[in-house]
Amino acid sequence: MLTSRSALIALYLAAVTVLSAGVWAYGYVQALGQVAARGRSDLELAADRLVTQLQRYREFAVLMAQHPTLAALHTGGNRAEAGDILLAAADKTGTLIALYADVRGNELAASNANIPQDLAQTPHFRRALQGALGVSLGVWNGQRIISFAAPDFGPDGRVRGVLVAVVDAVELEQDWRGTLPTVYFTDAADRVFITNRSELLFWKRVGPNAVMSPMGVRYEVAVKYVGGHELWQQDWSPYVPKRALHLTTPLPVISMEGVALIDETPARRLATLQAAVVAAVCLFLGALLFLATERRRTLALANAVLEDRVMTRTRALSETNTALRREVLDREEAEEALRRAQAELVQAGKLSALGQMSAGISHELNQPLMAIRSYAENGVAFLDRQRPEKAGEALGRISDMAQRMARIIGNLRAFARQESAPMTRVDLCAVLQSAVELTETRREQARVVLLWTRPPAPVWVRGGEVRLGQVFVNLITNAADAMEGAALRRLEIGIVDAVPLRVTVRDTGPGIEEPERIFDPFYTTKAVGGGDGMGLGLSISYGLVQSFGGTIRGANAPGGGAMFTVELDAWVEEAAA
Ligand code: ADP
Repeated sequence: MLTSRSALIALYLAAVTVLSAGVWAYGYVQALGQVAARGRSDLELAADRLVTQLQRYREFAVLMAQHPTLAALHTGGNRAEAGDILLAAADKTGTLIALYADVRGNELAASNANIPQDLAQTPHFRRALQGALGVSLGVWNGQRIISFAAPDFGPDGRVRGVLVAVVDAVELEQDWRGTLPTVYFTDAADRVFITNRSELLFWKRVGPNAVMSPMGVRYEVAVKYVGGHELWQQDWSPYVPKRALHLTTPLPVISMEGVALIDETPARRLATLQAAVVAAVCLFLGALLFLATERRRTLALANAVLEDRVMTRTRALSETNTALRREVLDREEAEEALRRAQAELVQAGKLSALGQMSAGISHELNQPLMAIRSYAENGVAFLDRQRPEKAGEALGRISDMAQRMARIIGNLRAFARQESAPMTRVDLCAVLQSAVELTETRREQARVVLLWTRPPAPVWVRGGEVRLGQVFVNLITNAADAMEGAALRRLEIGIVDAVPLRVTVRDTGPGIEEPERIFDPFYTTKAVGGGDGMGLGLSISYGLVQSFGGTIRGANAPGGGAMFTVELDAWVEEAAA
């Protein structure tokens, strides 16, 4: 990631460098073209000026050659007069020397006394002898001179004399010294003859890549061609640019070549500026792009970290969730087991109560049976005595007894039954009535006076008929047990129609020994092993009442004895729905 990013940056920088270099090269060539155009026009200007100046002396030579005073010299004219005329004309035109000679080179008249020797040998003189205008460059007395020679034709049409006008090159340079770029004009020997930089005088080009100073020292010049322009890189004089455009223009009229060395630094500077601008713009844009991508990358990274964290959390949560679900399942299974155990316990408690009640029950059933027997016997006797109405009365009693027995058995069957429906609408009065009836024998045994009045209308509660009955049978039996041997034996059962509904079972026994322990399983104060108590009745009752959403409390009543209160929810149709 990091390396690819650095590679990308390096690639970008390389691309910017290449682009900048391209821009530089293109801009350089363009600017070089402009510099060259300007330089060329400067060179042309200088050349034109030089040619124009020389033209003056040429014409001077041609016109002066035909002067009558000079012509007269061939026929014994006055030399001094001719010399004066030449001097005057030379002074006026700025000519260094003006002289008139015959065809053998003998001077006939001159503006100065001191004139160049060997005139007859000079190329310009010989050219004039042929009838043309001769020009030649030379050095005389340390002065650079340009000599023009014009023929003077005699009446026979042949050259009879030659007028030579010598011009000092310094005269020509006067006007343009130091101006313009470096410009010089070389003679046929490639020697700098006229220039606007006097330091370059007599330097000489030797070969294509070297120049030589007047002292004979050779300097190398690196020549290069860029966009069709000749470039010189040199170090031979502080008066020429180090890097210069080398421009030339031939001047055949005066057999010279004009050369300009134009400093190419402006072109270089312009190209560098353009390249720098392009590079700066690219780098700026690149930096912006880089920052943007960096930002995006940072965000993406943060996002990834966040997502990772969320995923880890989610995984942990789902694991916890699974664990929780497993726990809930375990709990449900445990609850189911508990419920089963409780149901079995309830059943066991019921069976134990039945066992306890069995003696009473047999007594209960025995009594009506005995009565039935005696009524039957009575009925037989009455029939024997022909008293059918009495016999019928006895039969009616028998029927009553049978009905009572059927009710007792029905109650027992109901009590022993396993209840399946968890919660239904139960008439509390009927349940209490049935509990009272089930415990009748036990109460009679203990000679307990019952204070219970069944309310005229049913009172509906939420619960299970059989289990609720078991609770009250247990409470009544406990009360009867407690009051055995007590002086006053009164059991009071009441219904308080409030919210929640309350059933109170109050006795006049000795009261509860340890009220806080009575609902503990296997807590009993009754003789162990005597079949009297197992300490399970109240704990089972507690569980049953709680399963109906109610409560059961046991406490000692203020006036003595124990009072048990069972609170139950009234039956509401919506609740059932
Ligand atoms: P068991 O009747 O088999 O002993 P219970 O759970 O029904 O078991 O009763 C637990 C104990 O609570 C009894 O042993 C007794 O000490 C006490 N108890 C219950 N009802 C009364 C009451 N009406 N008066 C005094 N003590 C009571």
